Amino acid sequence: IKNDLAANAADGSRTGEYSPEAERLLEPDNFPEYRSTLFRAPRNLRYETPKHQLAWFYLVRTLALKEVPPQWVIDYLGLTEALNDVDLTEWVKDPEQMLTIFLLAPPRHGKSDLAAHVIIWLICRNPDIRILWCGGKLDISKLTVKFVKLELESNEKLIEYYGPFENEGSWSENQFVVATRVTRMRTPTLTAIGKGVTILSLDADFIFMDDAFDLKASLSPTQVFNDVLWVKSQLMTRREPWTPLLGIGSHQPSPTGDAYQAMDDDHDNDIFFVKQKAHDYEKCLPLEDEMEEKDRHGEHCLLWASMRSFVYLDQFRRSLGDITYEVCYNQDASQSTLQYFRPEVVRHEYPQPVPSPDTGLYLPFSHYEERSGILDYQRNFGYRVAYCCGSANNLYTAIGFDPAAGETRTASEAALIVLQACKICERRYLIDYWHKRQSPEMHPDTIGLYASTYKVDRARIEINAYQKALARDPRLKKASLDYKFIIDEWFTTDTKWDPGMGIPLLSRHMEQGRFSVPYNLPQDRQKAEALLTQLVRYSPRSSIPSDIVMALWLADLSIIGLIDEGRIVTQKQLDPNAPPHIQDQQVTINLDALRNWE
Ligand SMILES: [Zn+2]
Ligand SMILES: [Zn+2]
Repeated sequence: IKNDLAANAADGSRTGEYSPEAERLLEPDNFPEYRSTLFRAPRNLRYETPKHQLAWFYLVRTLALKEVPPQWVIDYLGLTEALNDVDLTEWVKDPEQMLTIFLLAPPRHGKSDLAAHVIIWLICRNPDIRILWCGGKLDISKLTVKFVKLELESNEKLIEYYGPFENEGSWSENQFVVATRVTRMRTPTLTAIGKGVTILSLDADFIFMDDAFDLKASLSPTQVFNDVLWVKSQLMTRREPWTPLLGIGSHQPSPTGDAYQAMDDDHDNDIFFVKQKAHDYEKCLPLEDEMEEKDRHGEHCLLWASMRSFVYLDQFRRSLGDITYEVCYNQDASQSTLQYFRPEVVRHEYPQPVPSPDTGLYLPFSHYEERSGILDYQRNFGYRVAYCCGSANNLYTAIGFDPAAGETRTASEAALIVLQACKICERRYLIDYWHKRQSPEMHPDTIGLYASTYKVDRARIEINAYQKALARDPRLKKASLDYKFIIDEWFTTDTKWDPGMGIPLLSRHMEQGRFSVPYNLPQDRQKAEALLTQLVRYSPRSSIPSDIVMALWLADLSIIGLIDEGRIVTQKQLDPNAPPHIQDQQVTINLDALRNWE
């Protein structure tokens, strides 16, 4: 024990005892060179250390050496925010502080190889170090220990620079002690542990967890409960405060939430999360002329642009499905992950409608043959569509207005949408929109102005506790008489999430090529951006502003109402002996469509 304490105090760093070249390679900034010089990837390839991996290396180093990382790492990993604005210098030095971070990052981005190499780097730097490695089950943990052991016993250059490491008698499958150790200690250099073990008897200077909570564990609420209990009761209370813990992994799709989510939701347990997205949609370039979709993505939005390109990631999205992809690759936790508006659609060109040679009506978009999108390069904001499916009479125009006032929404803006729709093909045309922080007494004038400018049929206004007076405002009443539109009051309820009524229907219009957003001129693209951003980020459970999406949905509800009123529902004349479920079947006739076919 005496020796252990001494080792702790002196840090055991070997710096100063190696050759100058070996010393140089141990400099943190030279880690990429350390790696590429000393290790060979399968097929004799050199290990590259891209920026995200270097940042992860610095995160390990920060915890292990209790040294603040360079500013670029803090910014790149969003450490200040992830650690709730703690003073990083104080945080790493505080002897009472449990340094516990989970780094959640996409699969296939080099986490595990990097971790093994960082372990070796830590051993070279300080042969007295004691590391616990948990890769989930003990058998899996052993694989990494084996990998590290193999490098230490057979990597000639590594041995020449920092070894020899092999230590007969303490060189087993589960654990080993390196021969380079300075201080005599019982505790092994590297020990493989399985999830769920008792930590009490194990001394360590660093605890690594690698993909300890896999998909199988995440799908079982019981296993998630046990995993979280283990972290909280064993890892958080029984280890010494100076022993840092770094868990690396990916969020797993699970209807009840994975163990990471359970820990992240519980904010008062000193467990911090750094989350890295394979593809950060907020950082993609806007689509310009002569530009293909893939050109919008690169270093600025992709975590590993050279190896994990947009095209590469899109293959995984297609094979995994949107939800699993967003959870695993973009660390969008399972509960909030239902992405209604896929960026691939929101950021893609609108397919111009093709009229049927027989009827002149626009043919339905075939999403099997063509990729859908909403960016209409032939339209400008501020202009109504003149006709659709051969006639100007097919078009309805509606306004959706979300006042966005109320106690919990003080930070949001009011939003107004002018939407036109064809009652035959049901295509939606965004005509104009407006969003602004505005004093509520100005709302009636704003609605009146847009209603008169675009000759709308309906205006649907969200009514909440603070806005009851709005729809009955005399100015609005007068505008509706003057410009002949009907005001729909709308109390937002849970029908928002009804697949038939709510936001998902809007998304379906877009997926099926029935939604056009003006995108012709640079000013149109600039104007569209706020809406496009809100669509991509929209999630029903998040607090991200969605006032424009809400206004769009309100406008669409009015459109649905207008289209429905143009239809009649009739009972089929059936054989009276037909079974009741057949007799009850109703048939809907779209009168407007019938008229068009005459
Ligand atoms: Zn991108
Ligand atoms: Zn149409």
